[in-house]
Amino acid sequence: MADRVSFLNTNFDRMSESEAVDLLLTRLLKRQGGRVYYGNAHTMVTAAKDPALAQALEKSDLLLADGSGVRWGSALLGTPLVYNLNGTDLVPSLCKSGAAKGLSVYLLGAKPKVAEEAAAKLKKAYPGLVIAGTQHGYFSEAETPQILEAIRAARPHLLLVAMGVPLQEIWIDKYASFLPGITCMGVGGLFDFVAERVARAPYFIRSVGMEWLWRLAMEPNRLWHRYIIGNLVFLRLVLTYAFTLNSGEQTT
Ligand code: UDP
Repeated sequence: MADRVSFLNTNFDRMSESEAVDLLLTRLLKRQGGRVYYGNAHTMVTAAKDPALAQALEKSDLLLADGSGVRWGSALLGTPLVYNLNGTDLVPSLCKSGAAKGLSVYLLGAKPKVAEEAAAKLKKAYPGLVIAGTQHGYFSEAETPQILEAIRAARPHLLLVAMGVPLQEIWIDKYASFLPGITCMGVGGLFDFVAERVARAPYFIRSVGMEWLWRLAMEPNRLWHRYIIGNLVFLRLVLTYAFTLNSGEQTT
């Protein structure tokens, strides 16, 4: 059963992958629009120092728990988020279930050509899926109105925004209101994985919650700060929160 759970002062939606796919597909096909994000340890650490990201998360229609850090930290604080969801697993499931129902998606983000390659792979895997359009994620503020207009005109059910944390959440927060009826979802490196530009961790590594270690090994220069320093900062955030909770309980 889905429910809202507060973790580090942020409201998450606790649900299994199949519950999330069912809920999202219903919302998408009814063209309800909205903002959907995944929150992992990196998201929480970034939100702690970036008010624009914290505010975007606060305004989410759906915030799904992503990664071992959030699962572990939320269990420690007594509000276990239990499930580990991420766009890389959930989007293909959504496309699979939605293809027969005419689901249409627009891919926005990643380096030039990657969104097109990812769109072609998705279309091949799920032939009924409608690719409403693609656009790389390296554009200027001045180009944004034109890009928004192209997305509005294409009228996808789902806009996948793959520009990384916090850029994608802040972009969605700023522009979702210009895209009525279109659900916007932040999906990080999804297009790089789908286009097979970046290799995903083998299943057994993912199943033991160690995908982050694989990604670190693949791109150490880019990711060491996020995973080594970031995970320590996340640990400190959780322990500080636990300590504050505990001392609050003792004084009441
Ligand atoms: N990206 C983008 N525009 C930018 C910066 C990044 O489209 O201005 C893309 C980048 O090419 C990559 C994705 O955003 O495809 C971020 O991937 P990452 O693996 O860092 O995502 P996360 O770990 O946040 O899910």
